[in-house]
Amino acid sequence: MGSVVVVGGGIVGAAAAHRLARAGESVTLVDREDAGYATAAGAGIISPGTTYRPAAPFYPLAARAVAYYQDLIPQLAEDGQTDTGHETVGALMVAMGDEETARLDEIRRGAEERRAAGVVGIGEVSRLTGREAKTLFPPLADVAAALHVGGSARVDGRRMRAALRAAATRRGARVLRGDARPVREGHRVTGVVVGGERIAADAVILAGGAWSGALGTALGVAVPIAPQKGQILHLEVPGADTGRWPIVLGFHSHYLLTFPERRVVAGATRENGSGYDVRTTAGGVREALGEALRVAPGLATATLREIRVGLRPASPDGMPILGRAPGLDNVYLATGHGPSGLQLGPYSGAAVADLVLGVPVDLDLRPYSPDRF
Ligand SMILES: Cc1cc2nc3c(=O)[nH]c(=O)nc-3n(C[C@H](O)[C@H](O)[C@H](O)COP(=O)(O)OP(=O)(O)OC[C@H]3O[C@@H](n4cnc5c(N)ncnc54)[C@H](O)[C@@H]3O)c2cc1C
Repeated sequence: MGSVVVVGGGIVGAAAAHRLARAGESVTLVDREDAGYATAAGAGIISPGTTYRPAAPFYPLAARAVAYYQDLIPQLAEDGQTDTGHETVGALMVAMGDEETARLDEIRRGAEERRAAGVVGIGEVSRLTGREAKTLFPPLADVAAALHVGGSARVDGRRMRAALRAAATRRGARVLRGDARPVREGHRVTGVVVGGERIAADAVILAGGAWSGALGTALGVAVPIAPQKGQILHLEVPGADTGRWPIVLGFHSHYLLTFPERRVVAGATRENGSGYDVRTTAGGVREALGEALRVAPGLATATLREIRVGLRPASPDGMPILGRAPGLDNVYLATGHGPSGLQLGPYSGAAVADLVLGVPVDLDLRPYSPDRF
C-alpha cells in the first residue's frame, strides 16, 4: 500500500494505526488531543446481554466488535501491552419497582437467545433478589430484583487507547501530536501537513471523532457528525475495594461502573446541540449525581473526585460511518460511534484499516457506508 496517515488518535484511530502497523504498513498517527476527546471521558461499558430496548440497527457490528476484543487483547499482549483496562466484571440490571421487575424475564430471555445465536460477552444470566444484588454492589438501594449478567465487561478508554498506540509504535508506527491538514489534489489526498511538515500519504483514514465534520469540510466532503456532550462523575468510595463490583444498569440511560481501587463512575448526560462546549455545568452534575444516588444512595458519602466531559461523535442516524469517502479515491472515514465507541471502536478501526489494505472484512460494512447520506 505504501504509507498511510491516520488523522485522530482516539480509540478508533489508535485501533486503525495498530492494525496497519501489525500488517507491516508504514503508518503515521496524528492526534490533536482536543479538550473533550471522547475516549478520555467514556465510561466503557461492554454489555451485549443487558439490552432492553429494541436492538440498535448496528447490532451486527456490536456483536462482532465485542468478540473482536477477544482477539485484540492477546494481540496487544504480543506487542508488549497488558495494561489494557479491559476486564469482565459482570453487570447488574436492577429493577426499582414492580413494572421493571416484570421486564427482567424478558431481558433474560433476550440475552439467552442472543447467546444461543453465538453472541459472545453475555455469559451466565441469573435472577437475583434485591438483597443478593446488594452484596455484589453494597451502595445499592433496596431494589426490587435484579438480573446478573456474568459476561459484561468494562474497558478504560484511556488505558486501551494508550495500549493501542504503544503497540502500534512498537510495530513501527510514528505517532505525532498536532493539527493534521489533509492536502487534496483532484480525487486524491496526497499528504497531510502537520506543523509545517508535509507527510506523504497513499491513503488517509479520518478518525477525528466529534471533529470529523471539519475534516470533511476541508476536503469538500460532507461528514455529518455533531458533538454530543457527556458529563460523567468519578467518585471515590473510602475503604472499598470496588475492583470486582459489577456494572449497574437500570431502565434509563444512566449507569454506574467501577474501576480499581476505590472508584465508582456515574454517568452520564447526553447533551445534544452542545457544540464544543466542554464546561462542567451545575445541571449536568445534578443530573448524573441525582440518578446515581437514586439507584445507589450508599454513594452519598463518597468523595466527588473528578468530573470528566467528553464529546461523543454523533451521526444523524445513530450509526457509525465506516468506509471510503464519497468522491475521493484514497480517503476512508472511521467515525460516528456516538455513545458506543469504546465497544465498537477497536473493531471499526481495524475494519477500516482492512479496507485500506484491501483485505476482506469479515462483516458487511455496507449499512455503515458514508454514501448513505
Ligand atoms: C461520558 C461518555 C460516556 C461514554 N460511555 C461509553 C460506554 O460506556 N461504552 C462505549 O462503547 N462508548 C462510550 N462512550 C463513547 C465513546 O467514548 C466514543 O464513541 C469514542 O471514544 C469515540 O472515539 P473516537 O476515536 O472516534 O473519538 P475521540 O476519542 O474523540 O478522538 C478523536 C481525536 O481526533 C482528533 N482530531 C480531530 N481532528 C483532528 C485533526 N485535524 N488533526 C489531528 N487530530 C484531530 C481529536 O483531537 C481527538 O483526539 C462514552 C462517551 C462519553 C463522552
